Amino acid sequence: MSGAILVGGCLCGAVRYEIDGAADSISNCHCGMCRKASGAAFVTWIGVAHERFRYTQGAPASYRSSDIASRSFCGTCGSQLQIDDHGAHDHTHVTLGSLDEPGRLTPQRHIWVSDRLPWADYGDSLPEFAGED
Ligand SMILES: [Zn+2]
Ligand SMILES: [Zn+2]
Repeated sequence: MSGAILVGGCLCGAVRYEIDGAADSISNCHCGMCRKASGAAFVTWIGVAHERFRYTQGAPASYRSSDIASRSFCGTCGSQLQIDDHGAHDHTHVTLGSLDEPGRLTPQRHIWVSDRLPWADYGDSLPEFAGED
């Protein structure tokens, strides 16, 4: 998929973004913070280098969700869009579910399975990590 552009945005359409090229990682995160932030059992994150991700319309709201990370979301509709861990990585992470065509990408791993809900273990044989991989 190199050269492809992935586009997405929030539910109400106020905030839009694009990603140059393919995702570098795609992880289902089962941590309790992602669960609270999203209201879903787990969140699928696309890892992508900062310079390949940009907002193209609107600007997200954001807040510091822990000592090491900030989460960005649409201030109008609340869609979770991005998490950044304050320079700890050269990558940012974007929610796969906010892509316009999320079915183009497939998760590669499960992370924070130590927090996974018992019924959210689908036995899909993807690699699993107790915390971050
Ligand atoms: Zn919105
Ligand atoms: Zn998480």
